[in-house]
Amino acid sequence: MDPELPGVNIVDLGMVDEIAMDEQGLRVTLIPTFLGCPALELIGSQVKTALNDIGPTEVQWSIHHEWSSERITDEGRQALLLWGVAPPSQRSDSVTCPFCGSSKTRSLSQFGRTLCQQLYYCESCSQPFDRFKRI
Ligand SMILES: [Zn+2]
Repeated sequence: MDPELPGVNIVDLGMVDEIAMDEQGLRVTLIPTFLGCPALELIGSQVKTALNDIGPTEVQWSIHHEWSSERITDEGRQALLLWGVAPPSQRSDSVTCPFCGSSKTRSLSQFGRTLCQQLYYCESCSQPFDRFKRI
């Protein structure tokens, strides 16, 4: 699970680049959503803990692939919605409210709860909400 978005796992967020296994154990390559994201170290240690029963696990961060919001799976987009975060728009720039589905929304701030989110407001149901930035 992403420590900043409990309920949304890093597989569905598209952060898992590669998993390899050899005599030394598992090697998991992850793609950071944002370089400098303060949760990266925690995510790495949680992956090690989760896979500890399978074998010694080494976590490395991909330098070959860049994360983009296109990597979020449909399940990940659903999980973001359930968590009250609007997933990044796939086509248009319209942002849909995760609570009522209205597109009468406006940006309040370029920054949300985390670096990868921005704060929006829904004119229809008067709820503020975070939107996962499109990258
Ligand atoms: Zn709404």
